[in-house]
Amino acid sequence: MSITEQINSRITRIGVPLAGNPLRELNAYFVRGRDRDFLVDTGFRTEDCLEALMEGLRDIGWNQARTDILLTHLHSDHSGLAADAAGKHSRVYLSRRDLDYMRMVNAGKTTRTVAERFLEEGFPENLVEENLRNNPVMKARCRVIDDRFIPIDDGAVLDAGDVKLRMVLTPGHTPGNSMFWLEEDGIMFTGDHVLFTITPNITSWTVMKDALGDYLDSLVRVRNYPVRLALPGHRERGDYGGRIDSLIHHHLRRLEETEGIVRKNPGFSGYDIAGHMTWRIRAKNWDEFPVVQKWFAMGEALAHLDYLVLRGKILRDENFGLHRYYLVEENEKGAADTDAFSHDVLD
Ligand SMILES: [Zn+2]
Repeated sequence: MSITEQINSRITRIGVPLAGNPLRELNAYFVRGRDRDFLVDTGFRTEDCLEALMEGLRDIGWNQARTDILLTHLHSDHSGLAADAAGKHSRVYLSRRDLDYMRMVNAGKTTRTVAERFLEEGFPENLVEENLRNNPVMKARCRVIDDRFIPIDDGAVLDAGDVKLRMVLTPGHTPGNSMFWLEEDGIMFTGDHVLFTITPNITSWTVMKDALGDYLDSLVRVRNYPVRLALPGHRERGDYGGRIDSLIHHHLRRLEETEGIVRKNPGFSGYDIAGHMTWRIRAKNWDEFPVVQKWFAMGEALAHLDYLVLRGKILRDENFGLHRYYLVEENEKGAADTDAFSHDVLD
């Protein structure tokens, strides 16, 4: 079975298997242009992924020297092989914010801060250590970031003569998450901003105060592009606008669920709350979750809690080391709003 799929006369999908990962496969896309070719996303930095990607590229008859690499975001299933796939004079383009973050990760400046937040939110210390040892996302990341890597900003146009791809910044899934828009064909490379049969993971970030709020804003902002074909980073394709609506609804329901858990269980930690949310995973209960899945679930719960705290719906009590959550009663909401307002004015 070929791992390449011809999408139209100039675009080919390469399915890069992600062994043992619930995402199953990374969709890399090769775009042939008159002056340059583009490879959108790459795969984990593992031997299996490298072999599959190279096999796909050879199938297409690529020329490494004329191929530039476009990364939708920093996650290692997308960026892992960027330095290996790029030729000596190729360029690797990605958003400035994600490139900065990748540099911080490689300098060892991020892992601890995320772990510290998780500990404050009740994630057990032994599981933090276990996750840091086992998380494949850390192991299979792109470790070389050299001067072939070029930061780009919202609206940047990558021009291959007859093909022009415009970067559309959509923060949320990562700080500088982005999509690429091929206007002539009505094609959007959605990366992980819009996935069709699975829900993109939205987690808390130390460099983003309101990841879920940013994600929802980004969905609304790109809802009305005249997209004829959306090419996602994983799994199947689908109806772009309809999917955006259902992703927004999904998170609004999730916010209600989160608020409901806090209402019924005042004083729960973030870890307790994550354990009471519903997850589509084959595990008997919260204790049986594999640690990496628990880590993702915890991040997602925190993104929803941050959203509710920032909007005055719930309170985070940080007074006693372990953070605990409480509902803001209806009669206190006005007071909370006034407080936030007077802070703004004073600042
Ligand atoms: Zn991904």
